[in-house]
Amino acid sequence: RSAVEITQEALQRIATLEPKLHSFLSVTADTALAQAQAVDAKIAAGEEIGLLAGIPIGIKDNMCTKGIRTTCASKILENFVPPYESTVTQKLADAGTVMVGKTNLDEFAMGSSTENSAFQVTANPWDLERVPGGSSGGSAAAVAAQECVVALGSDTGGSIRQPASFCGVVGMKPTYGLVSRYGLVAFASSLDQIGPFGRTVEDAAILLGAIAGYDPKDSTSLKVEVPDYTQLLKPDIKNLRIGIIKETFGEGLDPAVEQAVTKAIEQLKDLGAEVQEISCPRFRYGLPTYYIIAPSEASANLARYDGVKYGFRTPDAENLLSMYNRTRAAGFGTEVKRRIMVGTYTLSAGYYDAYYLKAQKVRTLIKQDFENAFANVDVLVCPTVPTTAFKAGEKTDDPLSMYLTDLMTITVNLAGLPGMSIPCGFDDKGLPIGLQLIGDVLREDLLFQVAYAYE
Ligand code: GLN
Repeated sequence: RSAVEITQEALQRIATLEPKLHSFLSVTADTALAQAQAVDAKIAAGEEIGLLAGIPIGIKDNMCTKGIRTTCASKILENFVPPYESTVTQKLADAGTVMVGKTNLDEFAMGSSTENSAFQVTANPWDLERVPGGSSGGSAAAVAAQECVVALGSDTGGSIRQPASFCGVVGMKPTYGLVSRYGLVAFASSLDQIGPFGRTVEDAAILLGAIAGYDPKDSTSLKVEVPDYTQLLKPDIKNLRIGIIKETFGEGLDPAVEQAVTKAIEQLKDLGAEVQEISCPRFRYGLPTYYIIAPSEASANLARYDGVKYGFRTPDAENLLSMYNRTRAAGFGTEVKRRIMVGTYTLSAGYYDAYYLKAQKVRTLIKQDFENAFANVDVLVCPTVPTTAFKAGEKTDDPLSMYLTDLMTITVNLAGLPGMSIPCGFDDKGLPIGLQLIGDVLREDLLFQVAYAYE
């Protein structure tokens, strides 16, 4: 089939499913078809095309796309059309992918269910009454429902891996600095990373290969060679040392998740891996540490939405100060305001040492736990999320219980490590369960290898 035919099929599927799923904030049919035509023209001219050429992809709506609305699922950016392109989407366009649309998310990527979107709630394709996870819930749902083949998400504390787990797809957060953040709307800059979603490990590996690499436009970008991850997909993990993070088992872990993850680990053993238990004693401090550092950075990053430079501006203001106040009061949703308030508090004089500085110190200790672990093993495993997908509305009034779903993913961001979620079974309601693989800095190759062997 031609790229245009494949694109038309994807757009048709989107048209059929969107009334129930709501995974896209905008569908970019015209530009998609133009991109597909360009690929077909290349093929007709006998030019060589890459693996991703003509492949329909969804992009989380917090990555800037030139001339195409980028909302972050926020009223404050409802009509924001970026004048520039993010590095990742530019790289994908160069690779010939066909962007079919921008996917839904929790406002500014703050949340774990995609219910914090100012515009719509995305459904989980496995059970429409349940959430797809978040904050990249639109991307995860779109890939699971085959509205597109692959998608990009961003992960600050689990926002790729948690929805991948809830939707039964593969999702990876790369090492901090491997993928350029240029054009990604900042949430918590020291934690944010862009990464791939796919239905298979190979798809995710191909997509990561296309977006990774040094970018002078991102000051935290790593100057490293990007390996060809597909060459490293071997179904062989003999003698690879795998560590089970002890602290992730026990209280609060859904028995169905425990069972599926334990079974998956048994399979890794059968495949020849050496499996041992590993302790990360400071693992449990990840959650409180994250919920100080992330809001602190967010409060600073979101100061730019003041109604002056771009985005929404309140129509009724008497003076500059009331313009700021009313713009932000009307433009931001509840969760975003909560984060800005927490972050402003933890950074303020008199509290800074007690909260922000303390959190930074604990962050170092959490990193050390991982360093110690990787002195003895190659890859760590644990559940991605303690539960399967919950019902929409179930946790919206209880932010703390919502935050708890990030328990097992956020330490990975605090340490800047690569983490991946792969499907490893279902609970008795037929809801997908995810196995999380965690690697040492820039050891994405090992994660792909283990995931591929398991799959
Ligand atoms: N759920 C976490 C939060 O609300 C993580 C979000 C993310 O990774 N973007 O902050």
